[in-house]
Amino acid sequence: MRFDVLTLFPDMIKSVTDASILGKAQKSGIIDVNIHNIRDFSKDKHRKVDDTPYGGGMGMLMSVQPVVDCFNSFKGDLPENKRVIYLSPKGQVFNHQKAIELSKYDSLVFLCGHYEGIDERIEQLIIDEQISVGDFVLTGGELPALTIIDAVSRLIPGVLPDSVCYEDESIASGLLEYPQYTKPYDYNGLTVPDVLLGGNHEDIRKWRRRAALKETLIYRPDLLAKAKLTKEDILYLEEINNE
Ligand code: SAM
Repeated sequence: MRFDVLTLFPDMIKSVTDASILGKAQKSGIIDVNIHNIRDFSKDKHRKVDDTPYGGGMGMLMSVQPVVDCFNSFKGDLPENKRVIYLSPKGQVFNHQKAIELSKYDSLVFLCGHYEGIDERIEQLIIDEQISVGDFVLTGGELPALTIIDAVSRLIPGVLPDSVCYEDESIASGLLEYPQYTKPYDYNGLTVPDVLLGGNHEDIRKWRRRAALKETLIYRPDLLAKAKLTKEDILYLEEINNE
């Protein structure tokens, strides 16, 4: 998958996408991250990319010309099956379903806003949709773009060693993940549940399912309404509720 990021802070994007799993995925050619510095397209002698809003008011807005010229500089190289996204608190809130939907495109383009946001005409000219990462306001769109690139990349075959790595996880599975432990068995008197040491796969499966149900009931009960639950799950949840 091809990712393009239009930003005023290219180093922020590069430092994250070159590291860890995203860095490896780039090296192996599964993902391709192209970073475009909007400032390089300013026609102003001081490389200005923002201006005051018409009608007055606080702060500055990103101007239309540098952003649209930046996009036009690589638009012709993009595949047909692409989506151009403006990161914005006004957008639909990002979640796992949205990550799955976005992973089906061949190319995703992200415009990272700054200051008070962007001139509305940028949206009219180049943007397909706005996406928010939550009901709060950040100083820029770089962290939201990175969040989405990371979440989408994990779903692309070959980025993680096995699809089970993401299918079995919190949210993706419909429930929160069960608690996990690694060595040592005993850390300052805190021990690992014995069922996990016994090697009985059916007992381990049951324990994990119940632990996942319990975590979800405690921390995200809203997820249970949509989760696929067996009769046994429902009985167990009733049991915990009655405790
Ligand atoms: N004035 C804008 C508003 O009220 O909608 C907020 C501008 S914000 C300070 C600057 C930039 O950060 C935005 O243009 C956007 O790109 C990004 N941003 C801030 N919060 C965000 C969020 N929750 N999700 C996605 N992007 C966000």
